[in-house]
Amino acid sequence: MTETIIIVGAGHAAGQAAASLRQKGFSGRLIMIGDEPYVPYQRPPLSKAFLAGELELERLFFKPENFWPKHDVETMFSTRVKEIDRKRKTITLDNSEIIAYNKLILATGSRVRELHIPGHTLKGVHYLRGIDDVLAIQSAFKKGARLVIVGGGYIGLEVAAVGRKNGLDVTVMETESRVMNRVVATEISQFFQNMHAEEGVKLELGRRVQELQGDKNGQLTEVACMDGFTVPADICIIGIGIIPNIELAEAADILCSDGIIVDEHCRTLDEDIYAIGDCTRHPNPILGRHLRLESVHNAIEQGKTAAAAICGTPVAYAQVPWFWSDQYNVKLQITGLTEGYDQFVMRGDPASRSFAAFYLQDGKLLAVDAINSPREFMLGKKLITAGAKFTPEILADMEQDFKTLATAALEVAKST
Ligand code: ADP
Repeated sequence: MTETIIIVGAGHAAGQAAASLRQKGFSGRLIMIGDEPYVPYQRPPLSKAFLAGELELERLFFKPENFWPKHDVETMFSTRVKEIDRKRKTITLDNSEIIAYNKLILATGSRVRELHIPGHTLKGVHYLRGIDDVLAIQSAFKKGARLVIVGGGYIGLEVAAVGRKNGLDVTVMETESRVMNRVVATEISQFFQNMHAEEGVKLELGRRVQELQGDKNGQLTEVACMDGFTVPADICIIGIGIIPNIELAEAADILCSDGIIVDEHCRTLDEDIYAIGDCTRHPNPILGRHLRLESVHNAIEQGKTAAAAICGTPVAYAQVPWFWSDQYNVKLQITGLTEGYDQFVMRGDPASRSFAAFYLQDGKLLAVDAINSPREFMLGKKLITAGAKFTPEILADMEQDFKTLATAALEVAKST
């Protein structure tokens, strides 16, 4: 009998898993089911070049549209899976169709965290997660329009940069006292705050939005904060984080805890069900703990990992996480996670818009934020993987060549 693998989800992780399964020789029935009307596509450009109108829709696609039929991947778009029956090994679609599987891969991703305040359904209020969101935003994203962004994280700041480039009047409202509070140190937040201020963004830190007000036609007119501060607005984009889509797994009694729990091969507690991408909580042997990651790198690698395990050539997933963001002429590349750092070292001058920051714990490198510094980023990944250590004073000394320091630290790490 032919084996059937069903992939729930049609995002980056799902697309990679399907491509890898075929590449590794899986010749059975392969079905990919996604609730969006598109073939798997890349999300990072949505808040960057695609919003700016600099990228064609087709350029977002992970593979050309004809890749899927060519590789005999049955695709079902605009379709939701509503139930998993683990005993019968079937799934039920929203149209009540039932399909049997031998292996199931959950690549259900994540969704935006919503802001349920008065006025959140007014015309002009948007989130930014999918292609359709951007298409809806673009018509109002015009020179002179007043844009208020709620949330000073990756999404908020990337949208602010595109907004300024397109000549919009941009205000960012952030509840915390600094931007990108979740991911970077105060010094790096300060750099981004200065840069956005120089580019003409009005940053409102420590502001909690309480209400969105509109006119009699239901069109947004103003954003109001708890402290009485108000800003007139034509368009409001909310970017306050994402939450993993775990409900389908939970309803099937698959262990979840802020993510579907999987092992280093992306297997859930059910040996025939795997989970990959944003929706998982997985072990990272290099960092020695479980993580949930919102990153393309993780989606791709877990897609490959699950495919390898299913095809009988398992390779445990063990990589240092990395992320990036583009704002104006600045590329921020982050590798590692900063949690638990006790020393912070800057190399280079932030005013030059090219420098790197290093986070250490007892001298061991945990993470690097590289701003227009690809060399520090690339070497940083290797150094963190190797468990390399540094003396902060020496690392901070710009007289010392970074590559030489890194090579020496890698040698020491290898020999210990
Ligand atoms: P995203 O990927 O959507 O940018 P992040 O977690 O990187 O998500 O950033 C979200 C930002 O939104 C954080 O800086 C957080 O402090 C901020 N935030 C969360 N809730 C609110 C809110 N109600 N008003 C303004 N900012 C908020």
